[in-house]
Amino acid sequence: MDCRSLHHPSAAEFRKLPAVDTLLQRAEIVALATEYGTGPVTAAARAELDAARSAIHSGQPALTGEQWTERIARRVIVADASSLRPVINATGVLIHTNLGRAPLSQEAQTAVVHLARGYSTLEYDLEAGRRGSRHTHPSRLLCELTGAEDALVVNNNAAAVFLVLTALCQGREVIVSRGELVEIGGGFRIPDVLRQSGATLVEVGTTNRTHPQDFARAVSAQTAALMRIHASNFKQLGFVKKPELTQLVTIARSHIRAPGSRPLVIDDLGSGTLLDTARFGLAEEPMAQSSVRAGADVITFSGDKLLGGPQAGLIVGTAECIERLRAHPLARALRVDKMTLAALDATLRAYRRGRATVEIPVWRMIVQSADAVQQRARQFRQQLTAAGIDVAVIPGRSGIGGGSLPGETLPTFLLALDIPRPDDAAASLRQANPPVICRIQKELLLFDLRTVLPEQEQALLDGLRSCPELQREGLGRPEDKDVSGDRDGRRGDGL
Ligand SMILES: *Cc1c(COP(=O)(O)O)cnc(C)c1O
Repeated sequence: MDCRSLHHPSAAEFRKLPAVDTLLQRAEIVALATEYGTGPVTAAARAELDAARSAIHSGQPALTGEQWTERIARRVIVADASSLRPVINATGVLIHTNLGRAPLSQEAQTAVVHLARGYSTLEYDLEAGRRGSRHTHPSRLLCELTGAEDALVVNNNAAAVFLVLTALCQGREVIVSRGELVEIGGGFRIPDVLRQSGATLVEVGTTNRTHPQDFARAVSAQTAALMRIHASNFKQLGFVKKPELTQLVTIARSHIRAPGSRPLVIDDLGSGTLLDTARFGLAEEPMAQSSVRAGADVITFSGDKLLGGPQAGLIVGTAECIERLRAHPLARALRVDKMTLAALDATLRAYRRGRATVEIPVWRMIVQSADAVQQRARQFRQQLTAAGIDVAVIPGRSGIGGGSLPGETLPTFLLALDIPRPDDAAASLRQANPPVICRIQKELLLFDLRTVLPEQEQALLDGLRSCPELQREGLGRPEDKDVSGDRDGRRGDGL
């Protein structure tokens, strides 16, 4: 029997509780307050006192002096930690929107730090010694890489589409195929964006089939643009048809109303790419250069999907259209900051040097062979086995994600653990430092090293080694489960 329960134990324990001020005067706590602020430390002390009262109520003894300091410090440090922090992406989804999409190249990281540290030529013309424009920096490179006359960069591709429709189509009609009235995710729906921009949507064709003639017949004096939207995050198969971009261009150019006035062709590529994805065993993702060559007037694409750079909306097109965009008040509201421009500039320069697949993480992951991933996985297995964790290396698929190349996967090799409650282990790994995000498929806990940056390998190993759920006995045989087919419908796998 617990002897403390014999004579009003809690009363005595309650009397041992210190006053908040007494706690705050302890030397260690004073030091803590200097580092983390008096407010947070006081709040932590109060919270610990509350916790101690509940503990005494449930029959536990009061804390000792040292325990107070320790617990308050732990609470303050947890409260001070940012909720925005790096994680290890072991999901195998390369462009994972929830995990921040594209990791930046070393060159881009350096450029950001270098530029953000001090003053810069952001809007300063060194030759003239007076005000310049932030837009000139990325424009030159974007024109060089895509062949466009001019370019403009805004916050993201959603902003780019909104700006283009508002500045070039407000109060007039935009013709779109019914098969392309898509929702990108995060509530970004093309029909809604069109309405918001003040343009009127004219739907043509059907869900699965739209012919050039459907566009041609819909053109009127009210037509501001014919618009193509890339169906980024889904795929239509079977009895499907849509016009080529060049056909839309031909239609637009055959409707000259007055000199210099004809409908525009707007092409929203979504991800877009500057490298030919087909060269890397993937389906074809539309290339920005090809759209320029096909004659689109305005082309929009993302900075942080397959381009592999910072979040940004890249707009390339004719000098006349881009100038109208730049002059619109919305352009000022959607402008990017210097850190984005620095990262974008470094990323684009990798393309110019022909070093994208060497420098840009998304492309490095794409070109990494399944054999190379297998080799990394085997080394991992060795180290985990030595730590008493039973793990198999099995074939699987990595996904591209980020609304690029729907359904396209790359053959890979996975570290697989067959444990009783994989969800518990996944939850525990999310609490690691840095958190590890993995995947569960057919009740297997899976780690795809393709998306684990080489410099994170040690941290991943440490995270796995210190995960209590992975140390259990009786692990099964993951080799017996086939996860190399589709990757649909499994948890921990959000795009
Ligand atoms: C992803 C996407 C967008 C939005 O781009 P963000 O850079 O995420 O804002 C717009 N249109 C299409 C077709 C997309 O795939």
